[in-house]
Amino acid sequence: MSRGKETTVHCDQCGRAVPRNKGVMFDKPVSFNTGMQNTNDVRFFERRKVWYCISCAKHRGIFEKKKRLAIDRAKKML
Ligand SMILES: [Zn+2]
Repeated sequence: MSRGKETTVHCDQCGRAVPRNKGVMFDKPVSFNTGMQNTNDVRFFERRKVWYCISCAKHRGIFEKKKRLAIDRAKKML
């Protein structure tokens, strides 16, 4: 095992390579549609896992979102 060969992830916002353990993972909801102007038009949502570096995560309020999600989850448990 050699050191200094950590897995890196690329920040979705600035493209910076950050070590995986320092990056912030976030489930980003992405919407798709087929673009058809009739009843076959299908819209669907998918959660895509994206990584942010810490500065982008702070800037985008990811920590706040995660906190709110955790609070909501805790409320549902009650
Ligand atoms: Zn970034």
